[in-house]
Amino acid sequence: MIQIKDLHKSYHMGNNSLHVLKGINFDVKEGELVSIMGSSGSGKSTLLNILGMLDEADEGSYTLDTVPIKNLNEKIAANYRNKFLGFIFQSFNLINYKSALDNVALPLYYQGVARKERVERAMHYLDKVGLAPWSHHLPSELSGGQKQRVAIARALASDPKVLLADEPTGALDTKTSYEVMDLIQGINDEGKTILVVTHEHDIAQMTKRIVNLKDGVIIDDSFVEQVRASQYV
Ligand code: ATP
Ligand code: MG
Repeated sequence: MIQIKDLHKSYHMGNNSLHVLKGINFDVKEGELVSIMGSSGSGKSTLLNILGMLDEADEGSYTLDTVPIKNLNEKIAANYRNKFLGFIFQSFNLINYKSALDNVALPLYYQGVARKERVERAMHYLDKVGLAPWSHHLPSELSGGQKQRVAIARALASDPKVLLADEPTGALDTKTSYEVMDLIQGINDEGKTILVVTHEHDIAQMTKRIVNLKDGVIIDDSFVEQVRASQYV
């Protein structure tokens, strides 16, 4: 599903430059649940942003579902992004003045899905994350865990090939974090390819494979005996 080869990325600020990714190689197969671990500043978000086509590498290659991602014009890139990728963020990134339902349905609007189908699909995914009864609530009326569930429903609504989650449990307490990981494990069980950035070991243990980044290189890449989050919920 994902192949990256010898990826490099530097940031330039005035006369200074910071070499953040220093030759990253890995492949992710369809249906994998992978965590990317590493301390603060190790380059996790930089890598995820490149995988998410929100940023481009300086060197190396990236292939997503057999499509080489390189020098695409913004329109084509946006099309691929909508079709291939779903995003989940630490801070949920919900629109505060829109209901849960409208938040989930909004990306479908931009993809040209007709209103009736938007509402049906949004309700279907809200139901899937256990939030159907909350569909008309605003984000401010939801708990952190519920907000993240809405964001997960939104990410799923366009049925992306890959879900990319940057610290999805970073703003949640331990119990709620396990509940969200339980949901993510369930979505992966249904076949979705998922990458989770985290700096928490407990959270990484709930994925099937841990890629460890340090100072811009992968220092370890191993399969783990997955811990079921539901044991803790
Ligand atoms: P954290 O766990 O704190 O989220 P991270 O592993 O996600 O860290 P990155 O956000 O990828 O780390 O950042 C890697 C390095 O690149 C850091 O030193 C950061 O300061 C720097 N950096 C990130 N984004 C930019 C940018 N847009 N411009 C300049 N430097 C940046
Ligand atoms: Mg980060």
